[in-house]
Amino acid sequence: MSVAGAAPPLCLTVAGSDSGGGAGIQADLKTMLALGVHGMSVVTAVTAQNSLGVKGAWELPAEAVTAQYRAVVDDIGVHAVKTGMLSSAVLVETVAELLAGTTAPAVVDPVGVSKHGDALLAASALDAVRQELLPRATVATPNLDEVAQLTGLAVETEDDMRRAADAVLGYGPRWALIKGGHLAAHGDEAVDLLSDGSRELWLRAPRHDNRHTHGTGCTLASAIAAGLAKGLDVPEAVTAAKEYVTGAIAAGFALGGGIGPVDHAW
Ligand code: PLP
Repeated sequence: MSVAGAAPPLCLTVAGSDSGGGAGIQADLKTMLALGVHGMSVVTAVTAQNSLGVKGAWELPAEAVTAQYRAVVDDIGVHAVKTGMLSSAVLVETVAELLAGTTAPAVVDPVGVSKHGDALLAASALDAVRQELLPRATVATPNLDEVAQLTGLAVETEDDMRRAADAVLGYGPRWALIKGGHLAAHGDEAVDLLSDGSRELWLRAPRHDNRHTHGTGCTLASAIAAGLAKGLDVPEAVTAAKEYVTGAIAAGFALGGGIGPVDHAW
């Protein structure tokens, strides 16, 4: 007699592979496992990467991205999607079109540049992110570098964070989560702002003096998607995700000779 368990909520990441296992698809799937949802993946690009940076990156053809997505969604289904590294304008447009055909909530992490300064998105793709992808997002999660890239705004204060949220919301996502982790003005706090234009939620967590933070952004966005897949609303999912990523950063560990990953299993 075969016995089937109950299926967990279904969560899909559309992102790049990090061979070092700390960010990208690998971080997303570890996060989803840790948070009790079934993780599935659409690989957009393969990076040769370690604790010292990205050594090489190869984008997949748009048809390979579409085929992976269709294979998953048409048979298994999906309760929430997360997007990360999309590499080029063609893949941004491809993924935006796929998202247009689903009612599942989408967390869009507009990945631009890695902590080591490696470009994960072509400059020529920024318009497609603004015009095609952000309008499909339930939540967009830019850090301050990505805010600058997308909106031209330099953020130094909490008022600037409000302006950044409004500017990002202007491109059409339902919610914007502005990640202020790099903001010097906050000293020993990592402060993020979640806004839908009328409601705002400030999320504050102690900033850990730990340089092993590789994969932080991917982990946060995936944790939000996991919460949405479980049926949480956006403020609940973001609050729970912030708590998870704060613990993962605190437990981040050294690997190789550079920046180690956050610990998904903390
Ligand atoms: N590699 C891949 C494939 C990613 O998707 C990302 C971030 O989204 C990174 C690297 C960068 O990670 P970090 O900036 O946390 O080092």
